[in-house]
Amino acid sequence: MDDYNKNKIATRAVHSGEVRFNEYGSVTTPIVQTSTFIFRNVEEIRKLADGDMERFEYGRYGHPTQLAAERKLAALEEAEDAILFSSGMSAITTSLFMLLKAGDHLIITDDAYKRTLDFCKSYLGRYNIECTVVRMCDYEAMENAIQPNTKVFFSESPTNPYLNIMDLERLTEIFGKRDITVISDSTFATPFNQKPLEYGVHLVIHSATKYLAGHNDLLSGVLLGKKELTDPIREFLKITGGVIDPNSSYLLIRGLKTFPLRMERLNSNAQVVAEHLEANAKINRVYYPGLSSHPHHDVAKRQMKGFGAVVTFEVKDDAEYVLNFLSRLKILSIGPSLGGVESLITHPATISYYMHTPEERMELGIKDGLIRLAVGIEDPEDIVEDIDQALAGAE
Ligand SMILES: *Cc1c(COP(=O)(O)O)cnc(C)c1O
Repeated sequence: MDDYNKNKIATRAVHSGEVRFNEYGSVTTPIVQTSTFIFRNVEEIRKLADGDMERFEYGRYGHPTQLAAERKLAALEEAEDAILFSSGMSAITTSLFMLLKAGDHLIITDDAYKRTLDFCKSYLGRYNIECTVVRMCDYEAMENAIQPNTKVFFSESPTNPYLNIMDLERLTEIFGKRDITVISDSTFATPFNQKPLEYGVHLVIHSATKYLAGHNDLLSGVLLGKKELTDPIREFLKITGGVIDPNSSYLLIRGLKTFPLRMERLNSNAQVVAEHLEANAKINRVYYPGLSSHPHHDVAKRQMKGFGAVVTFEVKDDAEYVLNFLSRLKILSIGPSLGGVESLITHPATISYYMHTPEERMELGIKDGLIRLAVGIEDPEDIVEDIDQALAGAE
């Protein structure tokens, strides 16, 4: 395989990880649609068993399309190794199960992805793994939460829905000198905007479902870092089985080729939209790390190349008004998720937190007037116009 790692990100996105001359001269990496790989003779089985031959054996242990996608992702994140999973949650749960054992302790920040928090708070306890939830960006609380049995620190940056930014330098100052594995879910940042590994974070996780695949058409997750850390997790995945299939691997490769192009456009679209919303009198507050009004704007400017494409805002605290607004949108679609070419908008109070009581939502900071917009690659003027007409008509 040719090495494109000296090249810039746009070139790596197109070429890294892939074989230059495929079967039949195919310019694209083939979808090797098979569950198993046959042996020519018994000699080949022996060679594989003795480690004298590198080849594929069975789909759950890895396949060629997956391998190409993993190598491309490693090149983009500038990581030694990448492992693909069937979803972001599969990457998170398999990694944490492997890194933790009974009697261990884990620290996680309070505005992490809802299902990750759920897993840590409600399920790991069954295996006698203790979990402390600390306030995001409260660095003193993070340090104070450390116990002799703390093995993992898990956080995200930026977070959902307020786009809080973890200061990665301070994070490694606290955890770097200890024997604690620091994991960052970097889904909202992507390797285009932020490289946590450069700051000493040990493992990076992405829901590749979002910006990396980029087209709202597949689920997958990726874990990246040094091989000495990823190797045991790759072995464990062969048992837990949450593997990515050949078709999704191919779609991910295809999506990744335009990843830098899409991110450039998404960063600039989101900045335009955020600035426009901030100037709109019907909007009480806008949360976007690219705005100087964001509490972590300075940290974001220091450690990020761009500010991503999620913009959160507050209109008046009236659920009826918000639902009216959402139903008047003509271009933006109502739906969870983010990172695709289509703009998606959600009302966290009704879409993600509907099972919570109003009091619980208040405690979590999920107000009725809160709206999360995942900006897409449409023309920014059209996005802004769509929001304006829906706000005006919702009164
Ligand atoms: C979506 C998401 C996940 C979960 O990923 P799936 O691919 O949906 O399993 C984890 N973390 C963050 C920050 C996400 O946005």
